[in-house]
Amino acid sequence: MRDLLMIPGPVEFEPEVLQALALPTLGHTDPAFIAIFGRALKRLREVCLAPSAQPFVVSGSGTLAMELAVANLVEPGDAALVVNTGYFSDRMVKILERHGAKVTQVRAAPGDVPSSDEVETALAAGGFKLMTLTHVDTSTGVLAPVEGLVRAARKHGVLSVVDGVCATAGEAFHQDAWGADVYLTASQKAVGVPPGLALLTVGPLALEAWRKRKAPVASVYADWAEWLPIMEAYEAGKPAYFATPPVNLVYALDVSLGQILAEGMEARFARHRRVALAFRAAWKGLGLRLLPTSDAVASHLLSALYYPDGVDASFVGQVKAQGVVVAGGLHPDLKSRYFRVGHMNRTGPADLLATVGAVERALLAAGHRVEPGAGLAAAESALVAR
Ligand SMILES: *Cc1c(COP(=O)(O)O)cnc(C)c1O
Repeated sequence: MRDLLMIPGPVEFEPEVLQALALPTLGHTDPAFIAIFGRALKRLREVCLAPSAQPFVVSGSGTLAMELAVANLVEPGDAALVVNTGYFSDRMVKILERHGAKVTQVRAAPGDVPSSDEVETALAAGGFKLMTLTHVDTSTGVLAPVEGLVRAARKHGVLSVVDGVCATAGEAFHQDAWGADVYLTASQKAVGVPPGLALLTVGPLALEAWRKRKAPVASVYADWAEWLPIMEAYEAGKPAYFATPPVNLVYALDVSLGQILAEGMEARFARHRRVALAFRAAWKGLGLRLLPTSDAVASHLLSALYYPDGVDASFVGQVKAQGVVVAGGLHPDLKSRYFRVGHMNRTGPADLLATVGAVERALLAAGHRVEPGAGLAAAESALVAR
């Protein structure tokens, strides 16, 4: 029997998206494929609410999307500010340093975000070419106050690069209205497509900074100079080739982005919030504590939860025995003390209740004292309350 996949990516995908992967593969310069790719690019721009941005769709994972941003914006010796909220911010530091950036970090304790004053002070100290932040740090479930941070960067003339892997198409984000310069993501989380695509929307100021660079981009595959003419050609309905696109994944992306836009961005953000609040009510009903230090910094796309006393990392296996796959901890400081439940893309009341039930039964099996149905009742109350 197939388990329900409730990890923070990959996630459960819509059948129409999966069916697109099984269609006959067209040649990458076939007019029918050019039309699909062109539409997917336009849709990506709409999903990111970034009418002025240039979309890029490239074979690879989210980490490649991070590198596609950094490799093109950083020249050796450039100063970069990292708003560090966990594991994926640490990865960004590594990528920045590899490309020769001088990195300054404002860090928060795991589960928290740095204060806006700290970030403001760092920005005011001056000299940064770019600032990076992680929209949702999937290692801890921390949601950064993105709008304020990117507005602060813009005010100081610093480019903002937002890692939206996980967050994109789940957490509210208005790239143009907020003035974020680069939004980067991957296919397998809230975007709703199996792993394999790195996605970026690059705003005009970031493109301008890239055009002005003096040092060559240190990677051919990551160089926007190779990809930009390809993306422009596909959107204009013309054939082009640099490196073979993942044809079937592009079909699937087009289908998923179409579904996302049909739901509507605001409705989709609101659904994720509603589901997250019902999960939070359930966890409270079960006596579980969230890793994020307050609801204000807790993502709506996953729950990172401390194991209760007497329960250890074998719990993830016990939940799987109940038919639901959840993930262990990822933040190096706390790894063995918590687990993560993803609730993004197609998660609605059915998957919510199935997941809460499985966690509840696993807790009972582990000897945790909880009234059977306590989590489910709390989730139901939250669902019918609105
Ligand atoms: C998952 C994730 C990544 C890495 O994506 P991969 O597809 O695993 O390379 C980067 N940043 C964030 C915030 C993520 O959640």
